[in-house]
Amino acid sequence: DIVLRDVEKFFGSVQVIRKVNLTIKDGEFVVLLGPSGCGKTTTLRAIAGLEDITSGEIVIDGKPVQNLHAADRDIAFVFQLYALYPHLSVFENIAFPLRATRQPRSAVERQVRQVAAALGIEHLLARKPGALSGGDMQRVAIGRALVRRPKAILMDEPIGALDAKLREDMRMELKRLHIENKSTSVYVTHDQVEAMALADRIVVMHDGVLQQVGTPSDVYAHPANLFVAQFIGSPV
Ligand code: ATP
Repeated sequence: DIVLRDVEKFFGSVQVIRKVNLTIKDGEFVVLLGPSGCGKTTTLRAIAGLEDITSGEIVIDGKPVQNLHAADRDIAFVFQLYALYPHLSVFENIAFPLRATRQPRSAVERQVRQVAAALGIEHLLARKPGALSGGDMQRVAIGRALVRRPKAILMDEPIGALDAKLREDMRMELKRLHIENKSTSVYVTHDQVEAMALADRIVVMHDGVLQQVGTPSDVYAHPANLFVAQFIGSPV
């Protein structure tokens, strides 16, 4: 599991995470939900080991994240801007994280085709990213994250740039993929509909403070305070 204990983060004199305590269980889908600037991305980057924290600790399967080498973290990150390699084909983009594993070409090909099939992009493997729609680019980015079958996958507004209809389709695909793969998933969004649809548990954040942690129905029916009620749209 992933455990955050009394995590605090300052940028200069500005505190963006305040005493955050949270345990994310193996296989769980947790959504960090809150308005822009509340500290969601910083929290996610800290879990990934991409951001140093000022105090507290983040422990993954019993090991402090800062002690883990990047290669040992077994965590994949999906960004809102897909960050695909434009000069590589879709196949090579998805295969990229497998390079370090030095597997034979046939094994790489099998894994890439498997993840591409799960995402419905097998027919696009020979294309370059520039020739894809936004939804397909995001599928490639997710494929690249999943291909090594990471224990945890961290996603920062991964479908935020897509139009409403595509977002709905992608939400259903992400949910299905999670049910199939059971990777621990931590997902950042400011969209409460997305949070409700995807989360096993929602973490509502505001001004660097966790306001409430609970199942979607729990948070909706029993908001901890007025901020949560208004942000979630609970009947009050
Ligand atoms: P958004 O959805 O807009 O990304 P967020 O909830 O993810 O918002 P963060 O990106 O974590 O919020 O940012 C929290 C606060 O920290 C913001 O006020 C932001 O301006 C500030 N911040 C983030 N990164 C840095 C940085 N590298 N240096 C200084 N301030 C930063």
